[in-house]
Amino acid sequence: MLSSPIRKILKAHTYAEEPDRVTITDFHASFQGDNGDHELSYSVDGWSCTCDFSKARSYCSHSMALEKLLGPMVKAIGQKA
Ligand SMILES: [Zn+2]
Repeated sequence: MLSSPIRKILKAHTYAEEPDRVTITDFHASFQGDNGDHELSYSVDGWSCTCDFSKARSYCSHSMALEKLLGPMVKAIGQKA
């Protein structure tokens, strides 16, 4: 029988392959864009980014890239978290 720490590690690997188990509700990130660094946040109100494009819209290339990276763990742009 496997020891408890090993079972936890194996379970973690299984969980990591099932991202739909996780729902991110709030986080902050720094993003190194081609034209500078930006601060992004995600909450129940959706995405926020410090770039100029995002100021006039509720999305930008940075938030769309993070949405793609995080997959099913975040709501799609336009949906509330
Ligand atoms: Zn942005």
